[in-house]
Amino acid sequence: MLLRHTTDKIATRSALTVNPAKTCQPIGAMYASLGIHSCLPHSHGSQGCYAYHRSTLTRHYKEPVMAATSSFTEGSSVFGGQANLVQAIDNIFTVYEPDVIAVHTTCLSETIGDDIPQIIAKARDDGKIPSDKYVIHANTPSYVGSHVTGFANMTKAMVDYFAKPYGHKEKQINIIPGFVEPCDMQEIKRITKELEVRSIVFPDTSNVLNGPQTGRYEMFPHGGVSIEELIRSGSSMGTLALGHLASGLAARAMDTKCKVPCEILDLPIGLEETDIFINTLRKIAGVNVPDSLTTERGQLLDIITDMHQYFYHKKVGLVGDPDQLISLTKFLVSVDMWPIHIVTGTPGAKFEKRIREITKDIPHEVNVKAAGDMFLFHQWIKNAPVDLLIGNTYVKYIARDEDIPMVRFGFPILDRVGHSYFPTVGYRGGMRLLERILDALLARKDRDASEVEFELVM
Ligand code: SF4
Repeated sequence: MLLRHTTDKIATRSALTVNPAKTCQPIGAMYASLGIHSCLPHSHGSQGCYAYHRSTLTRHYKEPVMAATSSFTEGSSVFGGQANLVQAIDNIFTVYEPDVIAVHTTCLSETIGDDIPQIIAKARDDGKIPSDKYVIHANTPSYVGSHVTGFANMTKAMVDYFAKPYGHKEKQINIIPGFVEPCDMQEIKRITKELEVRSIVFPDTSNVLNGPQTGRYEMFPHGGVSIEELIRSGSSMGTLALGHLASGLAARAMDTKCKVPCEILDLPIGLEETDIFINTLRKIAGVNVPDSLTTERGQLLDIITDMHQYFYHKKVGLVGDPDQLISLTKFLVSVDMWPIHIVTGTPGAKFEKRIREITKDIPHEVNVKAAGDMFLFHQWIKNAPVDLLIGNTYVKYIARDEDIPMVRFGFPILDRVGHSYFPTVGYRGGMRLLERILDALLARKDRDASEVEFELVM
């Protein structure tokens, strides 16, 4: 096994990451860009970065992810990437005809210090940007942050470049869904529709990265928020941002730029967080909650009560992104599970503080780390074993090494399908999460049961 040399002896490390629990900023920026209709993401750097970003998204979504690159060579590294980017903008609008090019930077272009707004202005002055087309940008050096902050930066760029302050307010609400799956964005839109609230959701990758197989290739699928909607988002009566890290930046920028007040909530994963999401939406829009949503809530509650004995005091180890982990930890604690090892690769002291608050009543030592890695996570498990692991595909090595059941959740998932089609947000998403957790726990129970304990009915 690859990880057989992991020891249980934990040494303090400050300058070494082993098996990171994150990917790089441009991946999140590229993902966010794909949530604008007819947008081609552009990676301002070398082909190696771009290939990594595209292949990670392609493998996770099982869809061909389109993007362009400035294709840096030794020359660009010395003289800067302006000539490459201006040429790229010209080529892209001539050949692929997107409505928007969303440029994100990479470690190399940030180290050189390329001034992207100045390069975009030059491309416009040189007549390389058609008058009805747009080029936007976000700075995403990957020696800071993670794919989540890259997503946050590009989402903020949508506000900076497009949202227009109007004198009046329209009866609509902006929803910034966070770095969640396309199906989660779809589910958030469905819930909003059930509440009869008019919304502008951005970014919106539903029907872009989870579209149907039609036999016809479309470079720009019909999903995604439109430019017209992004411009109008500045006249909304409020913004609801889901996930502090992925969506907070854009929500605050919208408030500052267009005076659209914002509420920043945790992701609606689990019963309580979904209650808060629906209740906040209800209050902002002044609507009532329909019976259909109350029924879904009751169904989730029913699963929790029916199967509570299988969740009770099961120890769990979690790897993932901060916004997801905060809501997931709350959800697990609410069904009496014990998340005792929690790691994210994304830096941020607030994360550790939030998790400590959520887990304070667990009568067991809880390990939590931001900017941590999976090597440390594995060592924690060696010292205090768990009943279940929840995390992205990379966790499977630890699951195999330690013979622990695992539920895939988060980003990236490279070896399964379903995550882009079946949501984990909302009441229905909560039901799916619990179903998968139960499947993993009960399959293990069946596997390990003696003949007399092998139950037909659970
Ligand atoms: S970490 Fe930096 S150099 Fe590496 S792929 Fe990401 S942007 Fe490129």
